Amino acid sequence: MRLGKSLKQNKITASFDVIVIGSGIGGLACAALLGKHAGKKVLVLERHYTAGGFTHTFTRKGFEWDVGVHYIGEVTHPKAQLRRVFDDISDGNIEWEDMGEVYDTIVIGDDRYDLVKGRDNFKRKLKEY
Ligand SMILES: Cc1cc2nc3c(=O)[nH]c(=O)nc-3n(C[C@H](O)[C@H](O)[C@H](O)COP(=O)(O)OP(=O)(O)OC[C@H]3O[C@@H](n4cnc5c(N)ncnc54)[C@H](O)[C@@H]3O)c2cc1C
Repeated sequence: MRLGKSLKQNKITASFDVIVIGSGIGGLACAALLGKHAGKKVLVLERHYTAGGFTHTFTRKGFEWDVGVHYIGEVTHPKAQLRRVFDDISDGNIEWEDMGEVYDTIVIGDDRYDLVKGRDNFKRKLKEY
């Protein structure tokens, strides 16, 4: 998905209270919070051809790839700090999918190491391995 307008094709004539350099999740979150809660007029400048930093995706031969972020911890808990930030910025419109008991697997040769949900489970598994 390609987001944003090219600066070369859209000259800036308006003035802004805040300029955020970089449209990664950090820059976009700051920009959204400054706009929403501090009433600031914010400009986000990004040097890449699309916004999002490590959250953006690209397509090759009909497949979509993520460049970085593919899962985020704790967001299925409504009271977790990160979840509350996402809920605030999106007015509760982001829906999160549970990753299941095993959220990632590391494969080294013939050995498989499952990364499992929950702090205690995770510790127990690491000790097992
Ligand atoms: C391969 C990989 C996988 C990852 N997987 C996960 C994961 O699954 N879950 C997770 O929680 N985290 C993951 N991370 C970490 C996560 O991606 C980062 O912590 C997070 O995205 C950083 O966000 P950010 O806003 O700080 O920076 P970035 O996302 O790096 O954004 C910075 C932006 O600023 C732009 N920029 C920089 N300099 C300038 C400039 N001078 N002018 C204009 N623009 C500029 C860059 O082009 C970029 O778009 C992963 C990271 C990598 C590399």
